Parts: sequence; structure tokens; C-alpha cells
Amino acid sequence: MSELTGEIAIVTGATRGIGTAIATELALAGARVAVVGTGADRARAVAERLPGDGHAGFGCDVSDPAACGGLVSDVSERLGNATILVNNAGITRDSLLLRLKDEDWQAVLDTNLSGAFYLMRAVARGMMKRRAGNIVNISSVVGLTGNRGQSNYAAAKAALISLTRSVAQELASRGVRANAVAPGFISTDMTSGLPESVKKTMSERIPLGRPGSPEDVATVVRFLVGPGASYVTGQVIVVDGGMVMQS
Ligand code: NAP
Repeated sequence: MSELTGEIAIVTGATRGIGTAIATELALAGARVAVVGTGADRARAVAERLPGDGHAGFGCDVSDPAACGGLVSDVSERLGNATILVNNAGITRDSLLLRLKDEDWQAVLDTNLSGAFYLMRAVARGMMKRRAGNIVNISSVVGLTGNRGQSNYAAAKAALISLTRSVAQELASRGVRANAVAPGFISTDMTSGLPESVKKTMSERIPLGRPGSPEDVATVVRFLVGPGASYVTGQVIVVDGGMVMQS
């Protein structure tokens, strides 16, 4: 029996990048995974490739509160009640403040922050009733430091940390843990489009000397939802090769 045998994990943004790596790690640890992306077909294709049996793919736009409620019901019907929720879906719409459009501000807040709220609210009742559950929200180091050209993204990721800590305080007495992971510079589609000069500068700022891989983040999520972290809640674990060190 593996450490997450019997667990049912919803992982959003699992059709690519960090989310696919998290889904894979949790599946390797024995969980059955609900792979979530904006498109059901892509989500199903990823679910079919995961190690082990009993996974399924779901299409859900996490910025839509009704869709999030529907997702949690669908997962419960097809796989069983969710015991793990990883809010990983995220987008960037980078621009300097003076050029930042209302719709780009709103889209980033809706997906990166509100989506996590809708899904936590939807799973919390069941988790509290069963007195067990684990939530991990994927934030970012820029939620701790801010970043020029990313005021919308950094604001959403900072608020996600505060949301996580508040939820952790509300749910701890019911046996439900909530933590955040703050990745640094990770090689995925989200960062592949950055200019080479920016990638070079970022890499030079990383004490461990390389960009992170999606697996570097996924193994930390696996630890946080597992028995080894049973006394850890309301924390932010930075996974950035040492790029940001602050007290
Ligand atoms: P990515 O490769 O761009 O993948 C983003 C994922 O989010 C995709 O699976 C996408 O699904 C999904 N998604 C986007 N909007 C969605 C929506 N409205 N509803 C449902 N799913 C949605 O991103 P990544 O680099 O793996 O990043 C994953 C998370 O880590 C994000 O929250 C990101 O902010 C955070 N992060 C990344 C880095 C980095 O350096 N890469 C650093 C810090 C934090 P579809 O493909 O189906 O549309």
C-alpha cells in the first residue's frame, strides 16, 4: 500500500506543466486523480497516461463558480469524495501598471485567486464532515516579493497565500490542512516564451544554478498532502532553488 492509497485528489491545471507533474506524483503515491483543465478531452488524455488506475479527466474553467461546484459533484459521482485539492491552474497577462488593461487584471484575479476560493468552498464541507482533507494552493515567489510587469499576477498570488492561511485557521480543528507552495522560476509553457535574456538573468539569480523542473514542485506537494506533513498547516513552502531568501 502506498502513502496516498484511498485518497482522491483534484488537481487543477493538470493538463500541462507543474499540474501534470503533480497529478503524476500523487498517482505514483497511490491516489486516484481528477485531472482538470479547461478542455475535457485534453484532461482525459492526461488522466489516461497517469500511473495506476481509476483516474479521470474533467473540463472546468475554474474562474466560473458554477462550473467549480459542478466539478466537485462530478468528481464525487465518478471517483468519490475529494480528499485532496490542489489549486494549480494559473495564467499570466503581464503588463506594466500604466498599460495593464481591466480585462487582464480581472482575468488573472478570476483564475488565479477566485478559482481557488470557489473550489476550496466547494470541497470544504465534505472534508470538514469527514474530519480529514488536504488543500495545497500553488502561489509564486512573486506573491512574496512583487514583480515589475506582473502587478495583477503578484497581487493574486499574494492574496492566495493570505487566503490559504485564513482557510488553514478555519479548518484545522476539523482535521483539514491547507498550505501553499511558492515556486520560483520553473521550466514550463508559462516561462518558455520569456526572452532568452530574461531567462538568463533569472537563472543567474538562482543559487542552485538552474531553473526548477515541474517535478521539483510536485514532490513538495506530494510531501505536503502526505502523512509526513501531518503537523504542517498554514505554511508557504518556497521551491525556488534559493532565489528568494527572506525572514
Ligand atoms: P502552464 O504550463 O501555463 O499551465 C497552466 C495550466 O493551467 C494548464 O493546465 C491550463 O489548462 C490551466 N488553466 C489555465 N486557466 C485555467 C482555467 N481558467 N481553468 C482551468 N484550468 C486553467 O503553467 P505552469 O507553469 O505549469 O504553472 C502552474 C501553476 O504554477 C500556476 O498557478 C502558476 O502561476 C504557478 N507558477 C508557475 C511558475 C513557473 O515558473 N512556471 C512559477 C511560480 C508559480 P489548459 O491547458 O487545459 O487550458
